[in-house]
Amino acid sequence: EADFRALEERVADEILHSPEPAVIALGGGAPASRTTRRHLVDRAVTALVDVDVDEAWERVRGSERPLALDEASFRALYEQRRALYDDVEEWVARDVEDIVLAAGGVHVRTAALEKELGEILLAEGAALVFDENVAALHGPAAGAALGERLVSTHRLPPGEEAKTVATLERLLRDLRIGRMGTIVALGGGCTTDVAGFAASVYLRGVDWIAVPTTLVGQVDAAIGGKTAVNLPEGKNLVGAFHWPARTVIDQAVLATLPEAERRAGMAEVVKTGLLAGEALWDLPDAELVRRCAAYKTAVCLRDPCETGERAILNLGHTFAHALEAGSDHAVPHGEAVALGLLAALRLSGLGEQERLVQELLEPRPVRADRERAWLALQRDKKAAGGTPRLVLLEAFGKPRIGVELPAHTVRRELDRLIEG
Ligand code: NAD
Repeated sequence: EADFRALEERVADEILHSPEPAVIALGGGAPASRTTRRHLVDRAVTALVDVDVDEAWERVRGSERPLALDEASFRALYEQRRALYDDVEEWVARDVEDIVLAAGGVHVRTAALEKELGEILLAEGAALVFDENVAALHGPAAGAALGERLVSTHRLPPGEEAKTVATLERLLRDLRIGRMGTIVALGGGCTTDVAGFAASVYLRGVDWIAVPTTLVGQVDAAIGGKTAVNLPEGKNLVGAFHWPARTVIDQAVLATLPEAERRAGMAEVVKTGLLAGEALWDLPDAELVRRCAAYKTAVCLRDPCETGERAILNLGHTFAHALEAGSDHAVPHGEAVALGLLAALRLSGLGEQERLVQELLEPRPVRADRERAWLALQRDKKAAGGTPRLVLLEAFGKPRIGVELPAHTVRRELDRLIEG
């Protein structure tokens, strides 16, 4: 065993010092080496794949593994190693979703605001950014978690008003952190979008931590590194890909969320479930958030800059953006997405899922200017030469991107979403 451990330590050391990024699956005995433990703390993001002792024993009993020949010593060894793992583990993973979340730097757990935000190592101080509503509700908890690391706080107006160039400029001019400082964005998608964008350009880029407080933020906006502000010409026209150093998701903060905001988030949950091919919307709240967050993290890790697969996340959104534009943004985003999903499912010929969206989200046709909505749809960022490129489903859980359909077919579906 001693020879094996020495070899294991050498190989781990070599890989942990390689400049190439790597995923290393270490055996349970590797962290017994003090050197390996030190390198793991300094040079790796470490996730413990947690298996309780009874299950671990069930898996190895009867095998010829030298350290699993008798149960009592196996259990003693388990306890002894457990204490060593506590020194190095940053994440505890119980399934594949947990591993994906760890890879994306996403913490999901109740009380994460206090625990994870409180324990994240920051090189220098933090600037806390929130909107007025969130400042009153959850600002004190975030401030307490950051403690002495908190350098300054910055208040934004709630909603899309936060995503103007004027608000961005005010924020940038108020920031006092240095290049090793961190921006902590506590709030909904509007706050994380603008604070994340500020982080991407301030001093040519500083780290940021997203702490989403809406369902939209927790299952979507705070994950994957897309950040942006709006221009009078359109939404999200100025932005950057800037992956947050960490995303800290505490499902407990959703308790204060108004019902309308929750419904907006459910539209994204249903979208995720349709893409994943699983009734994620039926899960209890905490699990629903974890599973949706993991799904988006996986897609974005595979395609961080949206050169391909990531476009599936736009399911229903081409129609939604058109309805928003055609109503001067009077139609709330969540309602627009619900209608957009309906149109996408109709065009996909998936009647069962269409009925499901009707039941879950109860979308009703909205008031909007048909011509302006149609123009906006043709001008959508994903359109090619005026022909809209749609994301549709070949089947439940089987998205297809870049689908081009005759203009009159798409127009007919858009018209069905508009009242009158
Ligand atoms: P939001 O940030 O405006 O928040 C909605 C409202 O809820 C605000 O009034 C806010 O003050 C309040 N609020 C937030 N947390 C609360 C809480 N815990 N309790 C009580 N009130 C709370 O809106 P949103 O729906 O979270 O985000 C929408 C924005 O996100 C849009 O601008 C959209 O473009 C963007 N977005 C970005 C991405 C991305 O990948 N970057 C993805 C989806 C959406």
